[in-house]
Amino acid sequence: MSGFLPQAGTITGRTRVAGVFGDPVAHSLSPPMHNAAFAELGLDGVYVPFHVRPQHLAAAVAGVRALGLVGVNVTIPHKVTILPLLDEVAKSARLIGAVNTVVNRDGRLEGHNTDGQGFVRSMRAASDVEPADRRVLILGAGGAAQAIAVQMALEGAAEVAVANRTYAKAVSLAEAVSGIAAATTAYALTALTPAVTERYNIVVHTTSWGMAPSDRVPPLLPPELLHPHHLVCDIVYTPQETSLLRAARERGCAVLEGLGMLVHQAALAFELWTEAQAPAYLMERVLREELAKRTNG
Ligand code: NAP
Repeated sequence: MSGFLPQAGTITGRTRVAGVFGDPVAHSLSPPMHNAAFAELGLDGVYVPFHVRPQHLAAAVAGVRALGLVGVNVTIPHKVTILPLLDEVAKSARLIGAVNTVVNRDGRLEGHNTDGQGFVRSMRAASDVEPADRRVLILGAGGAAQAIAVQMALEGAAEVAVANRTYAKAVSLAEAVSGIAAATTAYALTALTPAVTERYNIVVHTTSWGMAPSDRVPPLLPPELLHPHHLVCDIVYTPQETSLLRAARERGCAVLEGLGMLVHQAALAFELWTEAQAPAYLMERVLREELAKRTNG
C-alpha cells in the first residue's frame, strides 16, 4: 500500500506526510478528514496544513520532492499557477486547467483534479442519477463550475449548459468543454425562464451566492425555474441546506448538498496517495462534526 506502514499511534521515523498548500490555509477542513482516514485504516500517515504564499510556491513544490511528501492538496490561490511546476498533469486536470491534488511518485510530481470526479461520486452516492445522457445546467462559470462541466462532459452528459451572471464567462466555459461535450449552451442568468430550464435534468449551483454568513438571501435561481423532475445540487456547503435546496425541496425536486463533493474530492485524493479505499462515511462524519463546531463557535 504505497509505503504506508501500520500506524504506531504516534508520529514515528516512518510516518508519511501529506498536506495542503494554500494562502490562507488555517480554515482548511481537509486535515481532520484525512487524519481521521489515516487513523481509521491504521496507516502511519499524517496530513498537515502548509501556509504557502504565491511567491514561495515553486520552492514549496520543490520541497514536496526534497522532503519526500506523499503528495499535497492545492487550494486557493495555487490551483492554476502550480501546473507548470509539475512533471505530469492528468487529462481531466488539464481540461479543467487546474490541479487540486499532487501525487509524488518517487520524485515525479503528478497533478490531478478530483473536484469534478468528487462531485459525480457524491451524486452517485446520494442518488440514482447518472450524468450520462442527462442535460445538465450549471449555474456559475468559475473554477468549481469548470471542474464539474468537464467531468459531466467526460461522463457522457447529453448537454452541458452554463448560465452565469457575466455572460461572456458562460460562453468561454461552454466553448472550453465543447470539444468533449455532446452539446453545449451558454446563457446569461437573466435569460433563464421556466421553459428554458424545463429541458434540463440536473441543475448544479456553483457560485458563492447563499454561502454563510450571507445565507439569508433568496436563491440565485428563482423557485419558479425549478421543476419537480430536476435533481438540484448546490456545492455551497455552509449552510448545508441553502435557500436554493430549501426551495427545490418545496418544489418537489430531489436535492444534493455540497458537503458530499468536499468529502469525495478528499476521498479521491486520499486514494491516489495511499492506494487504499478511503473511508468516505467517516470523512463525512468528521466533516459534519467540524462544521458544527465552527458554527457553534
Ligand atoms: P470562483 O472561481 O471565484 O467563481 C465564482 C462564480 O460565482 C462566478 O461564476 C461568479 O460570477 C459567481 N458569482 C459570485 N458572486 C455572484 C453574485 N453575487 N451573483 C451571481 N453570481 C455570482 O469560485 P469557485 O472556486 O468556483 O467557488 C464557487 C463556490 O463553490 C464557493 O462557494 C466555494 O466554496 C464552492 N465550492 C465548493 C466545493 C465543494 O467541495 N463543495 C468545491 C469548490 C468550490 P461572475 O463570473 O459573474 O463573477
